[in-house]
Amino acid sequence: MSFSGKVVLITGASSGIGADAARHLASKGASVSIVGRNEKRLNEVAKEIIKAGHPTPLAIVADVTKDPERIIKETIKHFGKLDVLVNNAGIFGDDSVVNFDVNEFDRIINTNLKSVVVLTSLAVPHLERSRGNIINVSSICGLRAFDSYMSYCISKAGLDQFTKCAALTLASKKIRVNSLNPAVIKTPIFEAIGINESNEAQFYEERKNDYLVGRVGEVSDTSSAIAYLASESFVNGILLPVDGGIMASGLGSGANGCNISLSH
Ligand code: NAD
Repeated sequence: MSFSGKVVLITGASSGIGADAARHLASKGASVSIVGRNEKRLNEVAKEIIKAGHPTPLAIVADVTKDPERIIKETIKHFGKLDVLVNNAGIFGDDSVVNFDVNEFDRIINTNLKSVVVLTSLAVPHLERSRGNIINVSSICGLRAFDSYMSYCISKAGLDQFTKCAALTLASKKIRVNSLNPAVIKTPIFEAIGINESNEAQFYEERKNDYLVGRVGEVSDTSSAIAYLASESFVNGILLPVDGGIMASGLGSGANGCNISLSH
């Protein structure tokens, strides 16, 4: 599938799933508008794309909770249009109803849910012109419960309902809206729960037998799924698990945080 001539805006593109999606879609010809807060890392992603000979990206240093108007305005000013919006920026956290901090709840909901609704509403007129589409990077935590990730689960479940409601509303404008719901993918997101270079190998090793495919996910798994959702015109309003079969297997207990037993 080619994305030649397409403009794709990806939030949270300075690392992990977003950075790889930017590299992957650019390799297929897309002009990518990449958004992140960390200027150095964002520029590194941009340089990698340019070095590989793909269309020159636009790097926008911005916070999705604070700068939604500027993110859309700069993208349209630079590229003149928008074909695909990938709402990927997100944060993780561990909490529960008995271990609750309202400020942390607000931070997670604002980043993972509210910012997506705001940014998407600003993008709609441009996506209507291009008959474009939206991909919301959700999680299997939107589809099932985990007791130690309550706020994160709520944010992703809300995001999945937003995907379905927006798909209904935007169908008349010829805009498709889908969610991608990954299980564990190897990225820095788990730093929020104490996973770092010293213990990540153990973390992934302990999880792999929960997956029918015998491994946790890589960013290449999510990038190919994002490209599929962005290009498949008959797919609309879906929540697509990219999960190595963990949802089908029923493994990975939701109790006590997906069997997380860390030695940190
Ligand atoms: P990551 O930490 O590598 O990337 C997240 C990116 O979002 C980072 O670049 C971060 O700086 C950015 N970001 C966070 N808050 C932001 C803000 N306010 N403004 C702008 N950028 C912001 O993690 P990742 O795993 O690549 O996560 C990407 C998405 O995938 C998230 O929405 C996450 O919830 C989702 N997800 C990840 C996994 C996983 O196992 N890695 C599983 C399911 C879902």
